[in-house]
Amino acid sequence: MQQIKPSPLKLIRRIIQTAAFFLFPGLFITMFSAIKTLYMAIIDGTFHITAQANELILVLSMLLITALMGRFFCGFLCSFGTMGDFFWVVGKRLKLRRRNLSRRMDQALKSLKYILLIGIVLIGWTLGVSLLSGTANPWTIFGMLTSVAGWPNLTAWVSVGALLLILIMAGSLYIERFFCRYLCPLGAVFAVASKVRLFKIRKPAQHCGNCQACTKQCSMGIPLYGMNVISDGECIDCMNCVDVCPRGNVKANPKPALAAVVAVAAMSGAYFAGTIASSAAAEQTTVIETASRTTSVTAGQYIDGIYTGSASGFRGTTKTQVTVSGGFITDISVLSTDDDASFFNRAERSVTAQILSTQSLSVDTVSGATFSSYAIMDAVTDALKSALVNAGTAEGSAAQVGVNSAETASSIQTEQGLIALEDGTYTGSGSGYRGETSVSVTVENGCITSVKVTNTSDDERFFSRAETTIINEIISGQTPDVDAVSGATCSSNGIMEAVANALGIEFTAAAPAESRHGGHGRR
Ligand code: SF4
Ligand code: SF4
Ligand code: SF4
Repeated sequence: MQQIKPSPLKLIRRIIQTAAFFLFPGLFITMFSAIKTLYMAIIDGTFHITAQANELILVLSMLLITALMGRFFCGFLCSFGTMGDFFWVVGKRLKLRRRNLSRRMDQALKSLKYILLIGIVLIGWTLGVSLLSGTANPWTIFGMLTSVAGWPNLTAWVSVGALLLILIMAGSLYIERFFCRYLCPLGAVFAVASKVRLFKIRKPAQHCGNCQACTKQCSMGIPLYGMNVISDGECIDCMNCVDVCPRGNVKANPKPALAAVVAVAAMSGAYFAGTIASSAAAEQTTVIETASRTTSVTAGQYIDGIYTGSASGFRGTTKTQVTVSGGFITDISVLSTDDDASFFNRAERSVTAQILSTQSLSVDTVSGATFSSYAIMDAVTDALKSALVNAGTAEGSAAQVGVNSAETASSIQTEQGLIALEDGTYTGSGSGYRGETSVSVTVENGCITSVKVTNTSDDERFFSRAETTIINEIISGQTPDVDAVSGATCSSNGIMEAVANALGIEFTAAAPAESRHGGHGRR
């Protein structure tokens, strides 16, 4: 096998790959996560240009740069691809027998990644389940592997994602860029975007001999010998073909090294611009949601006090301190975390602001900081376990319920006026999207203190989005007549109607939530 001559271009690539591996090991996860967040927000009907500014900037700029320059992301920046290159070199050093698949087999396997991409999109569309998060995918495990601090998370090492990662590493020993060629759904997205690229690598076939060295050294196994212009979406701009050509016949304008530096600088800039936009959006969300809280949250379900709780994040444990005052969650402080500050800070601002504003423990995660987001939610939930009215002491539970106003202490507000409630547990039903929804409503000291859904025929995906928000708002507002959750209106109405039915009051359908929250409803 012909050796690729060392060249400045190759040196530049290795330096950028190494730097990106250590500086942005999670960049491809961030890209996946951003695409997933946008996609799920769009299909849920909760897309908002400000809330998704980070993802929009990142995804659109990366796709635009790819459409102009080609897949420099894959060739230079993606640490998962760099890992593939590393194992390919290891296989070479170990003198493992390389696999040369037939052209037909190679082409057939390359279509697998498009099938995977379509599968992920369809499953997200129909079931509302993302296959791109959690420890079932190898990218998450790889992200943990690239940080020593992530190693102690032993449960992640016994997972589907870890097994897949080992198989990918093994495959990369025998087939160059094994995962990129055949399996990467993000690579499929980039391949489509790069079809129209303006930066083209040219190799006039009439100046070629019969060496076919470029074809043999192509990282992605593209049959280059018959081509004059490389426009294949599989090309990852690795520039091996430029380096290897003994006749200097493979060229590009602008020069490949210059194009690489420009593309990488533009992509890095887009990444940081997205991060800055995310911070600005989080601060804006804080202002908007804090303002809405004063009108939407009027009662609480927790005993006043200061509580601490902890949960596992991406690198280790996150501890929070939660203050409850007047039945509300009024302050959340992060006492400590093992997660990376750059990711955690983005999650902290957004997640704590959402919890405070919605008084809900299930809020939107921050793209690219999913584990940190869940860690904060779980730590707050852990802290509030002992603050719940039903979990409190006898004197606490009796004393703290419905103390906010004279009206809510003995009655609830309906369109027909104040209605007094007898203490007790009531059951009722309402019409959801697919059929009947049944609830059990507990009234203590004249207040609605608990609503439990005992049965529903609605789709889990929509219903679960409505359930937490609607029940929280009913308890907070002491009325079944609250705003429906956007994208889950029928499920929302089913719960409201069931509560109204249980309490023996007339039900009036609510308006969509975004009209009240300025478009910042839950996803
Ligand atoms: S194909 Fe996928 S894994 Fe490979 S370099 Fe591109 S984004 Fe990374
Ligand atoms: S065509 Fe050239 S630049 Fe593209 S992947 Fe193959 S060797 Fe790399
Ligand atoms: S390595 Fe150069 S000369 Fe050989 S086939 Fe490729 S472009 Fe032509």
